[in-house]
Amino acid sequence: MQVVHTRAELLAWHEAHPAPLGFVPTMGNLHAGHLALVTAAQAENAQVAVSIFVNPTQFGPNEDFSAYPRTLDSDIAVLEAAGCDLLLAPTAATMYPAGTDTRIVPGAVGESLCGPFRPGHFSGVATVVATLWHLVQPQRAYFGTKDWQQCMVLRRLLLDLAFPLEMVLVPTKREADGLAMSSRNQYLSAAERSQALQIHRALTAAVGAFQDGERHPATLQRLTLEVLSREADLKPQYVAVVDAETLQPITGSIGSPTTVAIAAHLGKTRLIDNCVLGDVTPLLRTCL
Ligand code: AMP
Repeated sequence: MQVVHTRAELLAWHEAHPAPLGFVPTMGNLHAGHLALVTAAQAENAQVAVSIFVNPTQFGPNEDFSAYPRTLDSDIAVLEAAGCDLLLAPTAATMYPAGTDTRIVPGAVGESLCGPFRPGHFSGVATVVATLWHLVQPQRAYFGTKDWQQCMVLRRLLLDLAFPLEMVLVPTKREADGLAMSSRNQYLSAAERSQALQIHRALTAAVGAFQDGERHPATLQRLTLEVLSREADLKPQYVAVVDAETLQPITGSIGSPTTVAIAAHLGKTRLIDNCVLGDVTPLLRTCL
């Protein structure tokens, strides 16, 4: 695996390796969820590139940018072992050269769910992903449904600004007990780690009710919140039942693919998770 840090090194790699490329952008501190994206990319691309960049523009002033776990050496070993071809590990100056002054601002899809609680977050995500897509020039790019809103923001980015690549979504990888894998899980104490499982229980309850025929968004939301609040230390920021693609509220009963999304604080850690109800297959691959 070659490790590159600059735009010039990336360009040189491209010239030497013209075969189609699958791309997995990450913030590092890699776990099995990230590796599921790498495996999915390897299954349908001759070469696979991963990027590791803790993107400052997607963190708010009171968020965990400086505390975010940075484990580049062990990440490199993990990617080598996984058979990855290229790692882009840019510095902030590589991603945002002096004078950088342009931001992408997502529309309504970025304004629901996490939007009001993380002002500027999806603008930071869309801007850095657009830049990475231009620099890395992949044929396909892979994202995890763990961050469902991010996936739908980037789907619109691809379609609206006509990026010539295919975006592929990979299901959330979970621990054996159901907790969604996340680099932020390591912030949790042992007690919080078991309390966090209530998020998965709440989503499982929503899926069960939907399978039993419940189609009213407000009833599903109430039920999910009720199960979530059985763990008193979990402080929900939101529990939402929304259209899976637009992330807007559903009027009437559920008739199209739907997402149940949760954000909750547990101590100092903010956790998110979601499930989808109905057939979201058409949303799992996006291209022009
Ligand atoms: P991050 O490093 O947290 O920015 O995540 C990089 C990519 O990995 C994003 O597309 C995430 O959605 C994805 N990802 C993170 N956690 C998981 C997981 N548990 N399962 C699948 N994909 C994940």
